[in-house]
Amino acid sequence: MKICSKGRERMTDLAELKAKGIIAQKQEGYFVLRFLSDAGYFTVDEMTSLSEVASKYGNGELGLTSRLTLEIPYIKQENLEEVLAFCNEKNLRIGGGGPTVRAILTCKGTVCKHGLADTNRITREMDKRFFGRKLPGKFKITVLGCPNSYGKAQGNDLAFLAVKGVELIEEVCIHCKKCVKVCPDDAFRVDEKYLALEKEKCSRCGKCIPECPVNALKSDKVEFLVFLGGRLGRKSRLAIPCKVKVKEDEIYEVTEKVLAFYNEHAGSGERFAEVIERIGLEVVEQALFS
Ligand code: SF4
Ligand code: SF4
Repeated sequence: MKICSKGRERMTDLAELKAKGIIAQKQEGYFVLRFLSDAGYFTVDEMTSLSEVASKYGNGELGLTSRLTLEIPYIKQENLEEVLAFCNEKNLRIGGGGPTVRAILTCKGTVCKHGLADTNRITREMDKRFFGRKLPGKFKITVLGCPNSYGKAQGNDLAFLAVKGVELIEEVCIHCKKCVKVCPDDAFRVDEKYLALEKEKCSRCGKCIPECPVNALKSDKVEFLVFLGGRLGRKSRLAIPCKVKVKEDEIYEVTEKVLAFYNEHAGSGERFAEVIERIGLEVVEQALFS
């Protein structure tokens, strides 16, 4: 693999490699390889191959990243071609850099007892459709399974977070207060003979529903809050949920629209957060959802 050794051409070469998940270290002549997981999972065979890469070509260490990728540092430049051929043979995916849709982040909603949605399934579909798409700047998407991940949703360019609301059927309630005990948001107002649900406090986590012994808590269907234009880092902007909520099968169409909007309105390197600040969230929401 030839990498120009001087000036601007070298910077271009390195930027192109970075977009492919091959990242120059500050230590001259060494690279980090970034490996993509499958919605946060590697198989045992993949882990065995990754260990082989780290022990044979790296320094024996494998590093975890915040976007569910795994990085192997200290790959010598002269070994890059050989390592990449090995990775190709073992079907290890490398990538996740540059002005593209980055690795789709998710939580363990598929197996977590709080999870309201099959986050693995949705994330795999998102990965298939959108990962690596070239855009004016980097674009981070996350799919989350319950309100416990609210903070994570706020820091991504686009986030979908599953919620499940609840209705209290007062005439059925026997005032056992089991729901009150599990509610993380103190959303029930209660005395000896009275129970009321304060909807503005309820985060729609659905935790109370299975606790009720008499089915006095009626479950809404799962839907997803949509967060636009969050980012962390130096210029952080915490996104708030849009007025519109979506069903699971609408997630892909909404993502397509959001990416098209960003592609059309962002300048080179401009993040979605900046586009929203410049144009105004209401205008953006209207363009996307009306
Ligand atoms: S859905 Fe969650 S936040 Fe809302 S009332 Fe039930 S337990 Fe409390
Ligand atoms: S768990 Fe059901 S019956 Fe018990 S207080 Fe809550 S809503 Fe009423």
